[in-house]
Amino acid sequence: MDALLSMTLLAVVCATPFWYPRWTLKRALARPLSPAALRTLADYIPVYDRMEPALQQQLQRLVVQFLHQKKFVGCAGLEVTDEMRVAIAGLACMLILNRPSKVYRPLHAILVYPGAFAAPRLDVGPGGIVTDVRQTMLGESWTDGRVVLSWEDVARGGREWSSGHNVALHEFAHQLDSESGTTNGAPYLGSADNYRSWSAVLSRDFAHLRHEAWAGNPDSVLDHYGATSPAEFFAVATETFFGKPWQLRERHPALFDELLKYYRVDPRDWQDAPVPELPVELPAVPANRSFAWANW
Ligand SMILES: [Zn+2]
Repeated sequence: MDALLSMTLLAVVCATPFWYPRWTLKRALARPLSPAALRTLADYIPVYDRMEPALQQQLQRLVVQFLHQKKFVGCAGLEVTDEMRVAIAGLACMLILNRPSKVYRPLHAILVYPGAFAAPRLDVGPGGIVTDVRQTMLGESWTDGRVVLSWEDVARGGREWSSGHNVALHEFAHQLDSESGTTNGAPYLGSADNYRSWSAVLSRDFAHLRHEAWAGNPDSVLDHYGATSPAEFFAVATETFFGKPWQLRERHPALFDELLKYYRVDPRDWQDAPVPELPVELPAVPANRSFAWANW
């Protein structure tokens, strides 16, 4: 009898790590988000109200799972509020709609600073001399399961959604990128065909952005920061895909289509096409008047 009891206890102890997390997640998912949390989603994801109800419900469920599984840590004296937690979870989960996902399984903690923060960096100077420097950052993504964010900039990204700048979308895109094992601008894509087409399109548009950045072209739809590396290109392209989908489709149709295949949502469904700027009509120069800068 003692042996049977011992074996039963051993089986329970061994099985607990498997069933307990599932049981607690199931309990969490049974509780819907509060009305205040739903308002927060709409506040920080301005396109939320235009998403189909089924997609909204999918996002809510992912947010509940994210909040259940990830730890939030306030830094530099910041007290992380429920509003911050829900806003960050909502933005992270916008990137994993419509596909099977482990909800950022390697990620375990989100560190939140009140504003931009200084991070230590090694700088390689002339002659290969390495020095410690402190660099001001708005966000960081680490492969060891951490994302660091400036709350002030997360909130600005929500308020100015259509600017195409959103630090939370940027850092969580890096997390998706690193799920494939390396952070190199190619997240897990499944088939070899998908990798081939992704590589051809993103390599070409990355080279194009590098040229635009080098030339200082102010009309780029993609932020020149994306020219830093293939990983930054994917993160910047993600921000632009969600914030400026119409402009990205017009200027980089093949890149837009690759992102559409990967993210499985079309952000153009949630935003009106921007009104094209009218060409500025210059006044005609009178025939009997010679052109002089001072007269205009
Ligand atoms: Zn980045």
